[in-house]
Amino acid sequence: MLVRVDFNVPISDGQITDDTRIQAALPTIRYLVDGGAKVILMSHLGRPDGKVEEGLRLAPIATRLGELLGKPVTTVPDCVGPEVQQAVENLPEGGVLLLENLRFHPQEEDNDPEFARQLAALGDLYVNDAFGTAHRAHASTEGVTHFLPAVAGKLMERELAMLGRALLRPERPFVAIVGGKKVSDKIGVLNNLIQRADRLLVGGAMANTFLRAHGLEIGRSYFEADAVDTAAQLVKGARQAGKELLLPRDCVVATEFQAGARHEVVAVNAIPAEMMIVDIGPETVRAFSEALADARTVVWNGPMGVFELEPFAAGTRRVAEALSRVNGTTIVGGGDSVAALEQAGLAERVTHVSTGGGASLEFLEGKELPGVAALDDA
Ligand code: ADP
Ligand code: MG
Repeated sequence: MLVRVDFNVPISDGQITDDTRIQAALPTIRYLVDGGAKVILMSHLGRPDGKVEEGLRLAPIATRLGELLGKPVTTVPDCVGPEVQQAVENLPEGGVLLLENLRFHPQEEDNDPEFARQLAALGDLYVNDAFGTAHRAHASTEGVTHFLPAVAGKLMERELAMLGRALLRPERPFVAIVGGKKVSDKIGVLNNLIQRADRLLVGGAMANTFLRAHGLEIGRSYFEADAVDTAAQLVKGARQAGKELLLPRDCVVATEFQAGARHEVVAVNAIPAEMMIVDIGPETVRAFSEALADARTVVWNGPMGVFELEPFAAGTRRVAEALSRVNGTTIVGGGDSVAALEQAGLAERVTHVSTGGGASLEFLEGKELPGVAALDDA
C-alpha cells in the first residue's frame, strides 16, 4: 500500500518541534497496519530543490512515528531504486516503511511520469492522505494515480467532508471570518465566501485596505494601494447580493510593530497619522462576537491582528473565544490562523482545524485541487 502523507514538520537541530502533521496521519496508518497491509509511506520535507540535503532526511520523522505507533519504522536512503524495492520486499505484513524525502528528486515537483511510475511500482494501491499538498500536481500526489487505483486516506476524507459541507451545504446562518495580511492573497477566498456565506467579517491588515476603499485615513497602517479597487468591488458585490459585510469600527493603533510600542484604541475615523493599526478594537470584537452568536456554520481564515506580539493578540483571541461558543460547525484554516488558535489554547474547541495551509485556502477559493481530482472516488 503506497501512502502519500504530509510529514513536512518543523525541525530544528534535528528535533521535531511540532508533530501535529505526524499525529494527523496516524488514523490512516494504524488502520492499514491493523489490516495487515505493507505500509509504504512517502512525504516531502522542506525545499531541497531536487538535491540531497542531509538536514532534510526523514530519519527523525521515522523515529517519532515509531514512538507514536509503538512499532519500528524502517527507513531507506532514497525513495526509488533497487535498494528501496528490496526493502519493500523484506517488509512484513503490518510493517511500516518510510521512503526518503521525495523532493531530493527534481522529478517529484516536475510530476515526471517515469518517476511516478517508479514510485507506483512499490505498491498495488495508492492512498493519498496528504491534504496539505493536494493543491500541487506532483509525481507523488497526481502522477502515481495514472498507474495505481487511488483513494483518499482518513485525514484527506475528513478535510474534504468538513470543508466541502461548509461550502456546499452549510447550515445557516453561515458566517465567514477573513483576516490576515493581504487582500491580494485572498481575493479568491473573499469572493467565494461572500457568495456562499450570509455574513462576512473582515479584520487584520486586510481590513485596512477596505477602510481605505471607504476613504478613511489609516495613518501608517499596512495596506495594499493596488487592491483598494478590489476591496471596493467586494463591498459593492456584497451589498448587491444582500450580504452583510462587517469591517472594524475601532482598532488598536501602535507606533511600531513591537510588543513594547505605545498603543491605544481609536475609532476607525480617528486614526492618528503617525500610528498604525495592529489589532481590532473592543467595539469590533463585540460586533463580531454578536455576528457569530447565532451562527450554525463558521469558516475562519486569517488573524485579526499582529497576534505574534502579545499585546496585539487580544482581538484574535476574543474572536476565537466567540467562535468556541458557537453552537454549530466551526472550521479554522490557514497557517497563521491555526497557530493563533493554538496560541489561544482553543484548537480543541472548534469542530475542525484544517491541516493544509495553501491547500485549505485553494479549497476555500472553490478551486479543484489536483491531488483530489486525481483520486478514483473524487
Ligand atoms: P493565514 O496564514 O492564516 O492564511 P495570513 O498569512 O494571511 O494568515 O496573515 C497572517 C499575518 O497577518 C500575521 O503575520 C499577522 O501578523 C499579519 N497581520 C494581521 N493583522 C495585521 C495588521 N493590522 N498589520 C500588519 N500585519 C497584520
Ligand atoms: Mg500565513
